Amino acid sequence: MSHDIRKLLDIQDKNIIFEENCVHFEKHKGQTCKFVQADLTYDPSHCPKCGKKKEDVFIYKNGKQTSRITIPMIGTHPTYLRLKKQRFMCKGCGSSFTAKAPMVKAHCFIAYTSKAQVLIKAAEAQSITNISKDCRVSHATVQRVINEEAKRYKTYFQSLPKHLSFDEFKYVKGKMAFEYINAETGAILDILEGRDRRTITNHFITHYSLAARKRVETITIDMNAGYVSLIKELFPKAKIIIDRFHLVQLINRSMNKARVKIMNQFHTSNGEDLKKYRRLKAY
Ligand SMILES: [Zn+2]
Repeated sequence: MSHDIRKLLDIQDKNIIFEENCVHFEKHKGQTCKFVQADLTYDPSHCPKCGKKKEDVFIYKNGKQTSRITIPMIGTHPTYLRLKKQRFMCKGCGSSFTAKAPMVKAHCFIAYTSKAQVLIKAAEAQSITNISKDCRVSHATVQRVINEEAKRYKTYFQSLPKHLSFDEFKYVKGKMAFEYINAETGAILDILEGRDRRTITNHFITHYSLAARKRVETITIDMNAGYVSLIKELFPKAKIIIDRFHLVQLINRSMNKARVKIMNQFHTSNGEDLKKYRRLKAY
């Protein structure tokens, strides 16, 4: 029984025991959810507080602590593991401690399997909203899981490329992120959660030396971005290039405005003027 449910839930921890009738439905956050009840207990080899071995000190069972752990959905309902963890008391130092479950990080209530699910979906470039819906965890949790994982892979290059490009994009409702890119290769070097002056300044000052920043020769920015003064401070040698794409867009727009203005001047009853008007309009 326990073995089968563990297999079903991808739980390897043999100290987690499932009893008969351990699955039931319950309302949680206004939704019908599936709760799977289990017990976690084992013989602790030592006291984690004082370090004394069980042979040398009396460790006894002392109540239980229940936690609700989010696990991947089984079937059509959000699924939780209600884990009753054994509490222990150490006679040696008088402190109590709780049985540890390898399936969750300490002080965390989301199973590694659920986190893995979030990461798999993130790797498929799904939106945070979708992942949150599919994995039944909050937006904040999805973001945190992704950030935690990203941190493990984050390597800071001591040096910066000669040519950088700054960009910004919307990542959740109303929030803009900042990214900087190697302008020659197009590689994203890092993404910051904010694009305000303080976030950007702190980031570059803490991650790159002034010498490294001085080697940056050009920084390409969007026409409207207010990065000019910030760049002058952080990258004293860098020339600012206004993004060609944005510039072309701007020129086009003002050309069009001028054309319409002239065109409207010819919009009179005069036959010759009307001919010019039509020609400008067709342009
Ligand atoms: Zn102890």
